[in-house]
Amino acid sequence: MPQEPQTAGAGALLAILRDGRARTRAELVQLTGLARSTVSQRLDALMQDGWVVPTEDAIASGGRPAVAFVFNESVRVVLAADLGATHARLAVLDLGMSVLAEKAVELHVDKGPRETLDRVVVEFEELLGGLGRDLAQVCGVGVGLPGPVDHSTGRPANPPIMPGWDAFPVPEWLGERLGAPVLVDNDVNIMALGEHWTVGGNTDHLIFIKIGTGIGCGIISGRRLHRGAQGAAGDVGHIQVVSASEEVCRCGNVGCLEAVASGASMAAALRAEGVEAEGSRDVVTLLRAGDTRAARLIRQAGREVGGVMAAIVNFFNPSTIVIGGDIAEAGEHVLAGVREAIYSRSLPLATQHLTIRASRLGDRAGVIGAAAMVVEHVLAPDTIDQSVQTPPVDPAALGG
Ligand SMILES: [Zn+2]
Repeated sequence: MPQEPQTAGAGALLAILRDGRARTRAELVQLTGLARSTVSQRLDALMQDGWVVPTEDAIASGGRPAVAFVFNESVRVVLAADLGATHARLAVLDLGMSVLAEKAVELHVDKGPRETLDRVVVEFEELLGGLGRDLAQVCGVGVGLPGPVDHSTGRPANPPIMPGWDAFPVPEWLGERLGAPVLVDNDVNIMALGEHWTVGGNTDHLIFIKIGTGIGCGIISGRRLHRGAQGAAGDVGHIQVVSASEEVCRCGNVGCLEAVASGASMAAALRAEGVEAEGSRDVVTLLRAGDTRAARLIRQAGREVGGVMAAIVNFFNPSTIVIGGDIAEAGEHVLAGVREAIYSRSLPLATQHLTIRASRLGDRAGVIGAAAMVVEHVLAPDTIDQSVQTPPVDPAALGG
């Protein structure tokens, strides 16, 4: 006897409606191959939890108007936090990924997990209060951290700039206080998710490279984040480059990309020439003020990053490379170097349709990506099927 198709649950119906188009029962019957009575049961279950609402305007079909149903993006909200070393961006989004409220705050992760996350909870409550919403409407929380994270547990794994955070149970700690599931990943991965969300279904393979204090990249392969066996995928900052053969990296090795092309290394090079520069933002500020030394360093950094990316393009064949992080603010100054190296050293077939561009989301990439990670989890058909109450399918209705 044929089984009810896997795509038959309430979650699968919701997945169809998530594109924002209203559909009638008849259209949903046609799209799913389910019996009309089964579609009605699923819709009732989804409406009971508010995931789906009937639209105001009925759609005319065959002379008689029929009720249509649409995904209710505002039924729940998502909380997103992108924590950097000294600053954090926090946002409340709806399920359609619209930012309802956001703020940037000074927050030092080296104060340890409890003090930092306490503040995150307070800021989230304030943002929700400003919207007239409360924690009961939160369906999930996404957090990006500036260090390695074991994605399966959501716990930081020996993060170099986060004393006291190693193996701290971030999801449990926040989940207890916010009353919703919490997903945690490193900042570059969530930024890659954010940029991939902006291009949606048009891009299967994308590399997001962040050039800030350090250098790292997030990999979208087949529309999914590729984290690797231990979550260490994308750590391109410590790939060896020839021009850095004399430079000692913060990791202890000699010759890393980060030692010549990161914001920290460029600031150090400027200081060695007597120019005041503390970090990556200062390098960009100097560039904008017309400093030719900063311009030269940024162009060279672009070429160094491009050289490593050229190898990655040959190996991985992405369709899009997005440059983000503070140094991406240098725009064409850094992109020109990246393009130059990639086009001169990658195989023509791999670069034929390759797009290399700056981040579209800028500072927002992290919170958008953190929210996208949560929405994909919360609205996954399996998760929805478990959360809504649907009566067992009447065998007589199958195939009807
Ligand atoms: Zn290194």
